Amino acid sequence: MNSPVNNAGSAMATYSALVSIAVADALGWQTEHLRRREDIERLFGVKFIDSFHKYQRRRGSLFQGYTDLVQEGDYSDDTQLTLATARSILPDGAFDPDYFSKVELPALKLYLRGGGSTVKAAVEKIARVKARWFTNFFTYRSPKGEKLDYRDSGANGVAMRIAPHALANRENPQKGVIGVWQNAVCTHGHPRAIVGALAHFWALILLLRQADADEESLIKGVLDGISESGLPQSWEFQQWKSLWEEGRGPGSFSRTYEETLKEYQRLVSLLRSHLFDEGDHPFLKEVGAFNRSTRGSGLVAAVAALFFFLKYRNDPRKAILRIVNHLGLDTDTIASMTAALYAASGQAVLPELWEKVQDYEYLASAQEGKLPRLPGADFFKKTKKATSLETHPPLEMAQRGGTISHSLFGSGRVLEVIKQNPPPKEVVMVRVRWDYGQSMVFTKLPQGSKRAK
Ligand SMILES: [Mg+2]
Repeated sequence: MNSPVNNAGSAMATYSALVSIAVADALGWQTEHLRRREDIERLFGVKFIDSFHKYQRRRGSLFQGYTDLVQEGDYSDDTQLTLATARSILPDGAFDPDYFSKVELPALKLYLRGGGSTVKAAVEKIARVKARWFTNFFTYRSPKGEKLDYRDSGANGVAMRIAPHALANRENPQKGVIGVWQNAVCTHGHPRAIVGALAHFWALILLLRQADADEESLIKGVLDGISESGLPQSWEFQQWKSLWEEGRGPGSFSRTYEETLKEYQRLVSLLRSHLFDEGDHPFLKEVGAFNRSTRGSGLVAAVAALFFFLKYRNDPRKAILRIVNHLGLDTDTIASMTAALYAASGQAVLPELWEKVQDYEYLASAQEGKLPRLPGADFFKKTKKATSLETHPPLEMAQRGGTISHSLFGSGRVLEVIKQNPPPKEVVMVRVRWDYGQSMVFTKLPQGSKRAK
């Protein structure tokens, strides 16, 4: 287990994992919503995406829209949530769910880029005074207007953000498992989100421990790991489970959990049978990676990432670029999760792009998946008033090159100010680099308008 090769691989992984995740996320975000090949050429002037481009993304409603100006190398919610997780892991690898849920998540509302509908709802709902990490049950509406319940939310918003738990708990995965559960239930209630996250966690752990583990031992290791990673035994999770079962009956959670494990096993058997196919498409189609109701599932993301990693085992570049250019997939999430698997096995993912990705130095400064808390974190944790996190930094006064400050993010520098639409519909976008290393884009919408989805 401790061969020199693996030790070198592990050191590399702890250095590059968050950078690799961000590079793949930034590449994939460019194609996330595209459906036709012509769109790539129209938007980016190329036929194939293998680098970062500057482009415009329409956001908001038809009547109150604005254009998000994405710079070369900008990453999306996948990386933002991963960074929030990395800052919530304590020096011993345990997770601080109170800090994550009451400081990091509500603050994300100010700067989230491209998040899914569950995450957007969850970061609003967790700000309720009474909501704690294990009681954040809520209902919300999808972009299409369907009424949704936290308990049915099985999207990949958890799986995409849990790599730091594995990086920080290589020697003690059981501690990592508890962290993944705590992290998951802050935003998602359906076992699909949780099991997908656990599957990705176990694949990462196994690769961190043995970079050259063969396919069969990896697949079996993931299945064994998941089966030993059920609901943690603590009063918080007992309470969470009884809230989950309210109105659905005793045993309803366990039944849904068991069904989800079977669903994952079915996806894994499809992976086994398609691993040596010529192309990627038949497998992806069969697991539902293009189907509107299943493409965003945590299970599908986890199995797709494992598929690409195993299929192109020694060629991270090929795997990531195939994902990014496979329109219809959840490109940024699958690419960044696949990149994490390569990093865990000690393989560099597109190193020629590392220094071009947003916040490269900050991402590279993570140690074993851990980063220091936000500068004003202690104050916010003490006051327990997440509502004060709803305040933007003072954007009206921002001037390019000037300084800016915020009670949570500390002080920073204004990199860019962009104004769109004449008043009273003026939209102000300000890009800030905080002194602690992360940059964010804040958007001030006209008074009275709701935050754009
Ligand atoms: Mg994204």
